[in-house]
Amino acid sequence: MRGKASERLGTERSLGNSLRLDSARLASDLRARIRGEVRFDEGTRALYSTDASNYRQIPIGVVFPRDAEDVIGAVEVCRRFGAPILSRGCGTSLAGQCCNVAVILDMSRHVREIVTVDPATKRARVQPGVVLDHLRDWTERYHLTFAPDPSTHTHCTLGGMIGNNSCGVHSLMGGKTVDNIEELEVLTYDGLWLRVGTTSEEQLEGMIRVGGRRGEIYGKLRALRDRYAALIRSRYPAIPRRVSGYNLDQLLPENSCHVARALVGTEGTCVTVLEATVRLVDSPPARSLLVLAYPNIYEAADHVPEILAHKPDRPRRCRRRSGHLHKGRGHAGGRFGIASRRRWLAPSRIRRPEPGGGQRSCSCPGGAASSQLQPAGHEAV
Ligand SMILES: Cc1cc2nc3c(=O)[nH]c(=O)nc-3n(C[C@H](O)[C@H](O)[C@H](O)COP(=O)(O)OP(=O)(O)OC[C@H]3O[C@@H](n4cnc5c(N)ncnc54)[C@H](O)[C@@H]3O)c2cc1C
Repeated sequence: MRGKASERLGTERSLGNSLRLDSARLASDLRARIRGEVRFDEGTRALYSTDASNYRQIPIGVVFPRDAEDVIGAVEVCRRFGAPILSRGCGTSLAGQCCNVAVILDMSRHVREIVTVDPATKRARVQPGVVLDHLRDWTERYHLTFAPDPSTHTHCTLGGMIGNNSCGVHSLMGGKTVDNIEELEVLTYDGLWLRVGTTSEEQLEGMIRVGGRRGEIYGKLRALRDRYAALIRSRYPAIPRRVSGYNLDQLLPENSCHVARALVGTEGTCVTVLEATVRLVDSPPARSLLVLAYPNIYEAADHVPEILAHKPDRPRRCRRRSGHLHKGRGHAGGRFGIASRRRWLAPSRIRRPEPGGGQRSCSCPGGAASSQLQPAGHEAV
């Protein structure tokens, strides 16, 4: 795709009011610097102009780094041109996180190695382009899994999950992505490669004293934390699915000044993630599913606290249309006569299979119910 006509047209690109850059020179410098593919043609830019959201921004061009060295090289060249960069995994973001007038670094094609899996410490090191299900398939041989699982688990990448602080139906079992990150290797736009994780107050003090760019960054993080600590402690909402905004609470000393976790959810605005050390949890050997049917969503919601007391690994609300529950397709609803109800809650629970386990029915306050024992990994409803 070198020197295509579509690239030569209008090589000077305007980026907002002030910044103009020579995109043809940027593309050729990128090609000279990195081993991965550099595509600035109109077709590629059109393909990468959107994600799973309603937004559309035509990027300057797209780079497919081969490895971390390539990412560092690409960022270095972009920096020389003052070109914005945007890391991208699978692009399933729903709020325009992957659309911008920037050089897109697509990590999903090559930067996707599962570096190590250590069943003893229940840790894995992964590159950002690793698809969640590839990691989960691999760790399953040790009966381990990565708990957060967005509905897009077959395609979403660990880098994108870290960018968005993704969760999923099993966030009750193992928390959000932020709760499952131990360390990150990150690159700043000005070219500093850092390994970040927990930081004791002594380490913090030491790094700030040594100075340099790293000391400056840690010094500013500590100043930000200390300035707003009281507000963060009193005003950050204590809700399990808080995924918006910056995780400044992770910088507090009681959270071990966890810089890696503070970077989760920053949507590529602070650093480019080059590698992540993630926490694995025991993978459920089997699950049982309970389907509760209610006349309406309000009554269903009223029963959620009661259900949570039984510690389900995933409570799930189903609408009439989304379940195959009605019309007796051999599924639970059809068999147990709950088809006429309009809303269902489907909490599932981790359990060991019982001899002769299978489908059962039971009566339950608030709604008709049925339960089903399933091998792990099968979709419940
Ligand atoms: C149908 C549908 C269902 C969904 N269901 C859920 C759900 O149940 N739960 C949920 O949490 N989300 C859900 N999502 C949203 C989305 O799928 C998840 O957030 C997913 O984890 C994003 O992964 P991705 O690889 O597509 O990330 P991308 O969209 O490619 O990127 C996400 C963010 O991460 C940044 N990023 C990517 N790689 C890096 C990197 N190497 N360094 C720094 N930043 C990086 C990007 O710049 C961007 O800001 C859903 C989306 C769809 C379309």
